[in-house]
Amino acid sequence: MAINIAIDGPAGAGKSTIAKMLAKELGYVYVDTGAMYRAMAYYFLQQGIAKEDAAAINAAVDGADVTIRYEDGAQKVLLNGEDVTGGLRTEQVGNMASSTSVYPAVRVKLVTLQQKLAKTADVIMDGRDIGTCVLPDAQVKIYLTASVETRAKRRYDELVEKGEHADLAKIAEDIKERDYRDMHREMSPLRQADDAVLVDSSDMSIEQVVSAILGIVKEKQA
Ligand code: C5P
Repeated sequence: MAINIAIDGPAGAGKSTIAKMLAKELGYVYVDTGAMYRAMAYYFLQQGIAKEDAAAINAAVDGADVTIRYEDGAQKVLLNGEDVTGGLRTEQVGNMASSTSVYPAVRVKLVTLQQKLAKTADVIMDGRDIGTCVLPDAQVKIYLTASVETRAKRRYDELVEKGEHADLAKIAEDIKERDYRDMHREMSPLRQADDAVLVDSSDMSIEQVVSAILGIVKEKQA
């Protein structure tokens, strides 16, 4: 049976950085489910669909074929056969993904794809609803979080490092809004699964978080 590790938590908690490092360490496949919601959002933006237009979104879902491929261990997201990975991490796509991930048609489509992937390999999957909905039987579940201030500062530093304009207060506001939307949507909202272990990374380095989670994985496997 494939072994599954679920990592959930709010935006900017460091899930993907940590999950990638854990996957390398353990020899598992890393599945970034946020990238799938971003690919759908990318498609809606391409089609000129407004995020509030439920009818247009429901009608468009079938036209977006999202698939995943791995190149040298890195996840590539294909949208209707085209590699869109490089265009997914912008604020515009992130905000659209946060708004359009509330639609059940979007979620059902992507959850089905995620569950299929998890059956075929040992995976570390990160997202918002992995432990509660996508992989309720995952052997290890982690809820990774950090304070809004810490997450905003990390994002701010990332943008400054890239030489991009950044406004700390605006980033913190965006994070709060995304948290609210993720935690209050009707279908599979973000919450800690009853059997998930809480890891608060506010005062931890990346290495400390990886080592803490590796400890939890080893404990569960023993
Ligand atoms: O994690 P990331 O920021 O890439 O996710 C983009 C958006 O996709 C999130 O804001 C969230 O609303 C949504 N998402 C989700 N369920 C997941 C993963 C992401 O609703 N499993």
